Amino acid sequence: MATKYIFFTGGVVSSVGKGVTAAALGRTLKERGLTVAVQKLDPYINVDPGTMSPYQHGEVFVLDDGAETDLDLGHYERFIDIRATRVSNFTAGQVYNEIITKERKGDYLGGTIQVIPHITNEIKRRVALVAETHKPDIVLCEVGGTVGDIESQPFLESLRQLRNEVGRENVLFVHVTWLPYIGATHELKTKPTQHSVAALRSIGISPNIIIARSDHPVARDLCDKIALFCDVDKAAVVPMVTSKVLYEIPLLLEKSGLPDYVLGLLKLESRQKPNYGEWETIVQRVNMPKPPVKIALVGKYVELEDAYMSVREAIKHAALEAGVEASIEWIHSAELERDKNLDRLNAVDGIIVPGGFGSRGTEGKIMAARYARENKIPYLGLCLGMQLMCIEFARNVLGFADANSSEFDRSTSHPVIDLMNDQRSITDMGGTMRLGLYPCEIKPGTKAASAYQTQHIDERHRHRWEFNNKYREDFENAGMVFSGLSPDGKLVEISEIRDHPYMVASQFHPEFLSRPNRPHPLFLGFLRAIVEYAKQQH
Ligand code: GLN
Repeated sequence: MATKYIFFTGGVVSSVGKGVTAAALGRTLKERGLTVAVQKLDPYINVDPGTMSPYQHGEVFVLDDGAETDLDLGHYERFIDIRATRVSNFTAGQVYNEIITKERKGDYLGGTIQVIPHITNEIKRRVALVAETHKPDIVLCEVGGTVGDIESQPFLESLRQLRNEVGRENVLFVHVTWLPYIGATHELKTKPTQHSVAALRSIGISPNIIIARSDHPVARDLCDKIALFCDVDKAAVVPMVTSKVLYEIPLLLEKSGLPDYVLGLLKLESRQKPNYGEWETIVQRVNMPKPPVKIALVGKYVELEDAYMSVREAIKHAALEAGVEASIEWIHSAELERDKNLDRLNAVDGIIVPGGFGSRGTEGKIMAARYARENKIPYLGLCLGMQLMCIEFARNVLGFADANSSEFDRSTSHPVIDLMNDQRSITDMGGTMRLGLYPCEIKPGTKAASAYQTQHIDERHRHRWEFNNKYREDFENAGMVFSGLSPDGKLVEISEIRDHPYMVASQFHPEFLSRPNRPHPLFLGFLRAIVEYAKQQH
């Protein structure tokens, strides 16, 4: 049977949760026994988000195959419980790169290269690649940005063409818009939605479904008005009020009747009755009163919580399982460094130092690691968080006063974190780190072993620097345990402090593999240690 496509476009403003909506709809379709694959199209010119600042873009989400992708891929993986691949995210930069490389080789000799057909054909080829690679019943494909953006036009044009090529009965357009609320008159407005649908129709796309996002309850007659003005079925306008509980959205979509409506339009049959038992348990647990715990997240991009999206979600997943209400205290590492005031860490039950690049704020993170070690506060280090934990240990336990990573200080006499050998000759910054899934062996009898309950693991990486093996013995003799190593024993993957309730850190990023119903072992171990620590404190 032909693959079906559901395209998601955004109207009015960005950041209204198009990715979450698409991911949640994906879940409801999977619950019906259908297979789904996902894709995010990013119309910006960067080749991938790997070289963009988290301030610009939020977190870079890393896949098994090492693709550095948009954070929406994280929503897809968490909601639908799939493992996406490189074909699931591409940018205008990749498309142009491909076409220009071919042009230079002479593939189009004599021809003029144009947006239509050259760029649009390449976009269509890449969209089809998801269906070819994953062979799903349905491809969910989200176009980044908002309808009306200049840069998204070739993408929308490609999808319009694709609809005719694969058959209209195989394609749906879902337009996700925003209803602004006017405080003075206490009303929601549909006009911007009408305009964005008009913009979409002016390029030949009539949406089949409109999802009206809002922070306020949306009355049925407002939806009917949208249906009338935007020329869609009444049943095709679905209000989606901002939910306090992210993981409730599949349940809300189910209640709205949208999944069956979608199957009806696509002429697909459900293969099984949806079973939301696990999701209902998650939502019940979220809504249950639980003892509070406070976790400090010491990072340099804390003004933008999206920069730590997967870490935040992984904390939530583990906290639900551990039966506590975890609140995050966002602490700016550069401020910690500047003010040298650790008072805020006094009141927390656990400390996370997440990944990062560049030297700004690293001394603040090292101070946080020291505080966690000396006060026996549970600590979880993620990538850079492991490197800094080792630097702190070298300075304050081993007495190597200027110990550092050669990333931050090239002239340190103790580069306890150093550039990996195969990184030394690399000059291109994009896509050249140690990226994606690599195996790791866990040392029995360690905290990592009791967290994982297994000896062999595979985790996602994104780094250039590593623990310098010259120092392994010194560290081990002083109480550091290297509890996870690459199978050849050459790379430190997990470190932990022996005489500490839970000071565990990994060179990889465990947050990318956490699921709402399957918290990541290292996060769960951390939360369990926090529960114990909090008991002693309160
Ligand atoms: N900057 C460090 C490295 O490249 C850590 C990277 C990270 O935290 N993702 O090794």
